[in-house]
Amino acid sequence: MSFDYDLFVIGGGSGGVRAARVAAGEHGARVALAEESRMGGTCVIRGCVPKKLMIFASQAGLLADEMRGYGWDGAQAGRFDWEVFRHKMDAELTRLELIYTANLTKAGVEIFHQRATLVDHHTVALADGTRKTAKHILIAVGGRPALPGIPGEELGLVSDDLFTMDSLPRRVLLVGGGYIACEFATILAGLGCDTVQVYRGDAVLRGFDRQARDMATLQLSDIGIDLRLNVNLTGLERNGDRIGVTFGDTSREDFDAVFWATGRAPYTAKLGLENTGVHLRANGAIAVDEWSQTAVPSIFAVGDVTDRVNLTPVAIREGHAFADTVFGGRARKASHVNVASAAYLRPHEAASVGLTEEQAQARGDVDVYATVFRPMRSMFAGSNARVMMKLLVDPETDRVLGCHIFGPDAGEMIQLAAIPITMGATKADFDATMAVHPTAAEELVTMRQPVRRHRLEIPAQAATA
Ligand code: NDP
Repeated sequence: MSFDYDLFVIGGGSGGVRAARVAAGEHGARVALAEESRMGGTCVIRGCVPKKLMIFASQAGLLADEMRGYGWDGAQAGRFDWEVFRHKMDAELTRLELIYTANLTKAGVEIFHQRATLVDHHTVALADGTRKTAKHILIAVGGRPALPGIPGEELGLVSDDLFTMDSLPRRVLLVGGGYIACEFATILAGLGCDTVQVYRGDAVLRGFDRQARDMATLQLSDIGIDLRLNVNLTGLERNGDRIGVTFGDTSREDFDAVFWATGRAPYTAKLGLENTGVHLRANGAIAVDEWSQTAVPSIFAVGDVTDRVNLTPVAIREGHAFADTVFGGRARKASHVNVASAAYLRPHEAASVGLTEEQAQARGDVDVYATVFRPMRSMFAGSNARVMMKLLVDPETDRVLGCHIFGPDAGEMIQLAAIPITMGATKADFDATMAVHPTAAEELVTMRQPVRRHRLEIPAQAATA
């Protein structure tokens, strides 16, 4: 049977673009890609990239405080002009979008700027009614913000909307305690919004090391966010041009904007998956094996739509490994072990790779090397903000099982710490590494004594057996 293409990719985000480019450009496959929105997907258009620019914007305002701490008499940040910033940010996103499109075209990928849905195992239908066949189909459609299912929730906005606001809200409520809620509470507070964040748990950033979570929770309040823990919402209603929010204890408050940051869900609805034998997991994610192959041999899926590790670099790796395996004759799997990540909070980021202390303790014996200190730069300027660095070490093998950093540029540091940890480095390897002085990161190679030793308790019965 002859097909229009060797590969049809649905979705022009991080995973889809990488797979298309490698399959066509490096392995000579005939590839088409359909994208219903802007090329680049969540990361480039409404996620990582504009978010990081907004973090920089909110951080820039703090430099005046630091300057005064270093003797720059009368340094003032002035007023933040959202319109000026937004136009610059839009221009940057357009530049990146054009680069993504140009790279695909250069690789020989045919691009359809429209929605595509599945018709059968080898056929997709485009929004204009045309049909295309392909030997392989890759689904890389990502995720979409998930709402909590309470009355009036449609009055709330989602993270996508944060980048296109005409003006900054005066009083804003963020709901959630994950990456998005914490990062955007940090950004909006830094840009001068009166920011309230509510979270249903007792410490933000579930999934991170508990000590880092506690420090992040404290920092959010320290930078002026009205952070309320163990709080739920029961409903939203319009109140003139404001939004009335009712909380779990029946109290009510008005906000200029409410943002849901209550997680993301795989974007599998109305994709035509019912026309194929592709299996979905309970949460709607596409079920794939370690090769990103679905239950239908000709259909693969990568990125957030598979809900494995929902991070851009992971989607890119999965897309690349798929293209190398299927079109490059090089069988490659993307590893989901020791995936480092960072939450871009301010002034200190939370970053992590490997097991948390809680996970390491549950797994077996672990020695905890940790330090908490005030870093030179901000301490001199008068700040009390504290840095935390932690290594978790298996006492039997001496292997470093996890590293956690809460501090300035922790995201940059964890990237480098992730290399030896992925290679299987021991604590002795860290100790043998010469420090770079004076840096904060040198603490990672100068922690000599464990601050805690956790030992797995053997149940009495088993111990005497
Ligand atoms: P997360 O899953 O990180 O956090 C969702 C938050 O919403 C949690 O605090 C959760 O609480 C809470 N929540 C979920 N459902 C409800 C509900 N019904 N009512 C109240 N609260 C609720 O999702 P995000 O939206 O923050 O981020 C989405 C994805 O994007 C993440 O998977 C992340 O990987 C990725 N991302 C990564 C970033 C980075 O690497 N820096 C930045 C931004 C996003 P609980 O903890 O109790 O479950």
